[in-house]
Amino acid sequence: MPVHNRIAQQADEMRQWRHYLHAHPELAFEEHNTADFLAKKLESFGIEVHRGMAKTAVIGVIKGKSANDTIGISKGARVIGLRADIDALPIPEENQFEHKSGTDGIMHACGHDGHATMLLGAAKYLAETRNFDGTVVVIFQPAEEHGGGGKVMCDEGLFEQFPMDTVWGMHNWPGIDVGRAVIQRGASMAAADGFEIHITGRGGHAAMPNNTADPIYAAAALIQSLQSVVSRNLDPLDQAVVSVTQCHGGFTHNVIPDDTFIEGTARYFSPAVGAIIKDRMAHIIEHVATAHGCSAQFKWIEGYPPTINDAAAADRAAQAAADVLGSGSIDMDAPPSMGSEDFAYMLQQRPGAYIWLGAGHPGDGAMLHNAKYDFNDELLPLGASYWATLVERELGLIE
Ligand SMILES: [Zn+2]
Ligand SMILES: [Zn+2]
Repeated sequence: MPVHNRIAQQADEMRQWRHYLHAHPELAFEEHNTADFLAKKLESFGIEVHRGMAKTAVIGVIKGKSANDTIGISKGARVIGLRADIDALPIPEENQFEHKSGTDGIMHACGHDGHATMLLGAAKYLAETRNFDGTVVVIFQPAEEHGGGGKVMCDEGLFEQFPMDTVWGMHNWPGIDVGRAVIQRGASMAAADGFEIHITGRGGHAAMPNNTADPIYAAAALIQSLQSVVSRNLDPLDQAVVSVTQCHGGFTHNVIPDDTFIEGTARYFSPAVGAIIKDRMAHIIEHVATAHGCSAQFKWIEGYPPTINDAAAADRAAQAAADVLGSGSIDMDAPPSMGSEDFAYMLQQRPGAYIWLGAGHPGDGAMLHNAKYDFNDELLPLGASYWATLVERELGLIE
């Protein structure tokens, strides 16, 4: 079963939706026009729409053939959730095509216009055919890029209000051929935490360091020592990154300052590894600062958790993707990405899988978050067909 015929027939319409969304990008939690557009479309397909969660989320509920329907026998009230993100990025677009961003400084540089469109296309097909037994919840989630709209929706009761059994996500992936997909049986995207360190010493004359407690020297020692967390404290088979990305201190050439400031990020795939990193960093920061006569304050800023696919769900997602793309087109052995994704919060609540849909190789190297990036419209029928196939597999009718 390749692309659904009916979905192939709506490819032009989907392209128009996608171009409209691309031309009207909105930032995190401000996707009001986007939400209006999506809600109106869903309503026009006869889908029940819920709004108000996480400020700008749009949720559609599509019911399949009922237990009394002659075609299907109910296997129980199964509910599946499909999620697309809808926000844009604060990047001035450098493209000049007709559907370029109409809003200065904001563009869809991550393809969330395409994600929303693929889910909308699938919703239209599912509402027309209802060739499944159970309920499909289509989740148009705001604020993936900034602010964790996925977490806000979970906190506001997404899974209580819509009791889904499983939840599924998808991202377009430039760098992977069109017609291929990657699905990991575990970690797919990393956790992205931040940290801030304030080192306080005692400033003084640079020519008389013996009268000071030099926070610059302590910061230098600390930056070196922090790299020992990954290389000496973690299992070599675990993957993680600790990067110091800012270091500020001092104001002139002949004064040792009172303090320095260090900032950075930690990326990892398992919460246990994250706990080790945080714990070891706390020890090292305290003791290295003390060793240099300084004191330190350490602030850990929790970001998105790791995005972990359920292994069995990943296998089922792979089967659905193989139905559309062909059995040789699915890669389940690719390493995860050190990027992060707030769909992680939904996968903490329910089993499911997040797949990467190959988006090809942009000629000008315009990858995700690049000012020249544009979602590849070839993917629209593929992604929508994947969603439809996944639903029909997960909520299959018993003849
Ligand atoms: Zn992004
Ligand atoms: Zn994205």
